[in-house]
Amino acid sequence: MRLILVGPPGAGKGTQAVQLAKHYKIPHISTGDIFRANLKGGTDLGKLAKSYMDKGELVPDSVTNEMVRDRFKQSDVQSGFLLDGFPRNILQAEELSKILNESNLKLDYVLELQIENSEIVRRLSGRRTCKECGAIFHIEFDQPKIENKCDKCGGTLYQREDDKESVVMNRLEVYAEQTKPIIDYYRKFGLLKQMSAVGSVSTITAAAISILS
Ligand code: AMP
Repeated sequence: MRLILVGPPGAGKGTQAVQLAKHYKIPHISTGDIFRANLKGGTDLGKLAKSYMDKGELVPDSVTNEMVRDRFKQSDVQSGFLLDGFPRNILQAEELSKILNESNLKLDYVLELQIENSEIVRRLSGRRTCKECGAIFHIEFDQPKIENKCDKCGGTLYQREDDKESVVMNRLEVYAEQTKPIIDYYRKFGLLKQMSAVGSVSTITAAAISILS
């Protein structure tokens, strides 16, 4: 399975990506996760990305595209992959086509997770992320067993700077202006599948697998 997951911030792409990557036994490639890992590691890339991420802006294409190009040099992508958070604009989509052509890989599907803006704000402002392992919780819908502690690794939970309400509003604008156009781009190639992102995690995963089969 060679898949791109698209959807606004808060649609649950990250959560679904983990489930789908496990189901199809393919690597989950999240550009957001790669940036956050660099940030945590204090690399130059992390420092550069932080200034954009904190405002909800896109990291420049030249940097992001190079990072993805590098990731596709690893051999595990030959058996399939799930891209989460990339591409996020038309230029990145065009660059991805080039990267895949060079590796003789073809996309199977682009799956769009659809959700209303009001629901997104509710989801994101309550989201808490583990500092250590990146696991995601929610103060209302998916509470950890111990307040502010990760169920999986015991790490401390925090609110991502870009999950704060003012930044969420900016991320939604960036999504509408820059990322939405890639939906039509992939529709023209006949690759697009669309589904609702509202429901329990397991229901959405099952629906996604059924749509993709
Ligand atoms: P995410 O975890 O996918 O919501 O990404 C968090 C942040 O990382 C985004 O708001 C951007 O600042 C940055 N980012 C992630 N993926 C990309 C991308 N494909 N292009 C540019 N910036 C990105």
